Amino acid sequence: MRKYIVAGNWKMNTTVPEGVELAKAVVAAAKELPANVELVVAPPFTHLYPVAEALKGSKVKLSAQNCADHEKGAYTGEVAVNMLTSVGCEYTILGHSERRQYYGETDEKLVVKTKLALEAGLKVILCVGENLDEREAGKHFDVVTAQTKAVLYNFTAEDLKKVVIAYEPVWAIGTGKTATAAQAEEIHACIRSVIAEKFGLEAADDMTILYGGSCKPSNAKELFAEKDIDGGLIGGAALKAEDFLGIAKSF
Ligand code: PEP
Repeated sequence: MRKYIVAGNWKMNTTVPEGVELAKAVVAAAKELPANVELVVAPPFTHLYPVAEALKGSKVKLSAQNCADHEKGAYTGEVAVNMLTSVGCEYTILGHSERRQYYGETDEKLVVKTKLALEAGLKVILCVGENLDEREAGKHFDVVTAQTKAVLYNFTAEDLKKVVIAYEPVWAIGTGKTATAAQAEEIHACIRSVIAEKFGLEAADDMTILYGGSCKPSNAKELFAEKDIDGGLIGGAALKAEDFLGIAKSF
C-alpha cells in the first residue's frame, strides 16, 4: 500500500531550543491529521536527540538529513547510521541536491550510504532532480531516470519497500518557483515507470514519490491531487509548524 508522506527538511536552520519548540508545535498540530498521512521531520544532527524526546508519544517520525558512507571509525565530522538509529531516527534523507552540489555526493556514494542505511534499519528518502540547465536543454527525464537507476537498480524489490523517492527540481528549491502540477506529475510518472521496468508493477505502485521545491500551503493541494504525487519534501515551509501542517492537510 502506498503511503502519503509530508517530510520537513530543516536544513541548517534553528538552534536546538528553537528546533525543540518547532517539533512540539508540529506534534500539537499533527493531531488533526488524517491517519493515512505520515509526518516526518529532519532536523540537524545536533537536534536529533532532544527532538526525538519532543516527538515521543506522537506519530511524527524523525529523520536525519544525511549519513556517513562508513560504518564507524576515523571519519572526523561524520555521523554513522547506527548513531542515527540509536537516537530514534526512522529515516534519513540521502542525495539532496545541496549535498550533491556542495559536498560532492556522487551516485556511487549514495549506493554505499543507502546500503548502510537499509542494513541499519533506516528508511531512505532518496532525492533526485535536474538543474535549470538540464531542464532548459530538455534533459530532465534523462537526468532523473539516470539518477534513479544509478542508485536503486543496485537493490531489490524488498529493499525498495524501505525507500521513498523525492523528486526535487533544483531550479525550484528555495527559489519560490514551483514546478507546475503537470510538470511534476510527468516526472513522477516517469520515475514510477523506471521502478516498474526493473522491479515490477507492484513495487512501482507501492513506491511513495514526493515532490519538493517551493511547496507551500497555497500550491500543495494542486500538486498532491496528481495521481503519482504522494506528498512532499518541504524545506522553507517546514520551519513554520502552521505552514508545514497546512501542506499536510492538502491531501
Ligand atoms: C528542499 O530543499 O528539500 C526543499 C524542497 O526546499 P524548499 O521547499 O525551500 O524549496
